[in-house]
Amino acid sequence: MTIHEGEDTAIVIGAGPAGLAAGAELLRQGVKPLVLEGDNIIGGISRTQNYKGYHFDMGGHRFYTKSKEVKELWEEILGDEFLKRPRLSRILYNGKFYKYPPEPIDAMMGLGVFESVRVILSYFKWKIFPHREVTTFEHWVTNAFGKRLFQIFFKTYTEKVWGMGCDELQAEWAAQRIQGMSLKTVLMNFLTPNKPKAKSLIEEFHYPRLGPGMMWETCAEQIDEKGGQVKLETKAVRLVHEDQQIRKVVASCPEGDTHYKASTVFSSMPITELIFRLDPPAPDHVIKAAKALKYRAFLTVCLIVDQDKMFADNWIYIHDDTVQVGRIQCYKNWSADMVPDQSKSSIGLEYFCNEGDELWTMDDEDLVALATKELEDIGLTASDKVLDGCVYRMPKSYPVYDSDYAEALECIKEYMNGFKNLVSIGRNGMHRYNNQDHSMLTGMHAVRNMYLGQSVDIWKINGEDEYLEAGESEPISTASLAEEVK
Ligand SMILES: Cc1cc2nc3c(=O)[nH]c(=O)nc-3n(C[C@H](O)[C@H](O)[C@H](O)COP(=O)(O)OP(=O)(O)OC[C@H]3O[C@@H](n4cnc5c(N)ncnc54)[C@H](O)[C@@H]3O)c2cc1C
Repeated sequence: MTIHEGEDTAIVIGAGPAGLAAGAELLRQGVKPLVLEGDNIIGGISRTQNYKGYHFDMGGHRFYTKSKEVKELWEEILGDEFLKRPRLSRILYNGKFYKYPPEPIDAMMGLGVFESVRVILSYFKWKIFPHREVTTFEHWVTNAFGKRLFQIFFKTYTEKVWGMGCDELQAEWAAQRIQGMSLKTVLMNFLTPNKPKAKSLIEEFHYPRLGPGMMWETCAEQIDEKGGQVKLETKAVRLVHEDQQIRKVVASCPEGDTHYKASTVFSSMPITELIFRLDPPAPDHVIKAAKALKYRAFLTVCLIVDQDKMFADNWIYIHDDTVQVGRIQCYKNWSADMVPDQSKSSIGLEYFCNEGDELWTMDDEDLVALATKELEDIGLTASDKVLDGCVYRMPKSYPVYDSDYAEALECIKEYMNGFKNLVSIGRNGMHRYNNQDHSMLTGMHAVRNMYLGQSVDIWKINGEDEYLEAGESEPISTASLAEEVK
């Protein structure tokens, strides 16, 4: 066991976007951070995995933000390696491809006149007689788009993602993710193409040349160069506190346990785990609340296909209940350099699951076989074109907004507010459906709150319309349904 001696240290837990943004901000405030990362790779969910020279994004990470300072920071970190990319994404429904976001003529041609009329009548019906009490995802989307469109373009895919019925999923999730979208905005977007777009309708985004991990690996290198330290394979396992202050963080690493004296702690580990790692333990009611928070996991089956072109989309949503795959990425359409050999394509088939369930525990070989078969079943390639494959599992990818989560989170927040030098930041750190930019902003503002005495409520980032940064024309809130669940 090593005891780390010396000055009290500003400790950041997690080298994902939130932790690294906090680390970079600490350096700007003249404080040298120690960033502890439990995994052997930088980037958290926004990492890029490399298999035989092929780069795989865990999801497809669009870099899109309304925040000027986040945008400038991304540009500063990557310079010319930060590419501007066009977006194409379609829905596969009933054997046909539909543009996403939906375009009226494209949708009508695919659905046919009869179904299109049903969609329009259903829209007006639900405009005139909406659900008065909007508590579930189904209520929210039905009120915005009508029941028919909900059934065609939202239900199957959303249920694959969440593993629960749309009548159980809370409306808050839809409001946060599809904000600004309705049948009306889709039509207005079509009729007035030059108007600023609702957030789900953004047609361009940025992307690092070698995937999102490139951004975060470069950011970590820059933190090291400027005097901070990012340590991989160093997992925070215990946070020792006294008088409402974290005194010490105990981390487990290959050399054994290391003790770090803490001046401040910014933690992006899942908030549930943070609660369980406190020493002395949190009160029973807080532990009970932490146990009530749930997560959805996902895994990507990555295939290398002997085909130079597979489809033009960045990603395709699979609204088809005959296959289990939820979404398919074609990484070379995000950046050509994601593949080392342009005569091949690398594809990511995304399966949404729960840790420990049948998909999660299936052998990699069986998953590769399943993905290869499903790729053929939906007509995207012949199975003998698939040359190789591998699997990456991402636990705790989606904080679940079920009917218990808000009360549980409130209880945890209240307890956490009592700590003078500990802030929980980021996506799982706040059990919030944050994108990279939101996660970064929570880290940056948490540091400024602590060191500059500013008082930005980080819980309002990606939440409430009041949260505006100077110079912003729009609130920093939801980017779009199109980020992840799109
Ligand atoms: C499928 C999918 C697609 C997405 N698409 C987009 C997109 O298009 N655009 C976008 O902006 N965002 C997207 N996101 C969201 C984005 O991935 C997250 O917002 C971002 O990664 C969150 O950053 P974070 O630092 O808060 O958390 P994480 O990325 O989860 O990082 C947390 C880090 O903490 C580490 N850690 C955990 N516990 C410990 C511990 N005890 N000790 C030390 N380290 C620990 C973890 O290993 C991890 O590296 C997507 C997410 C998913 C799941």
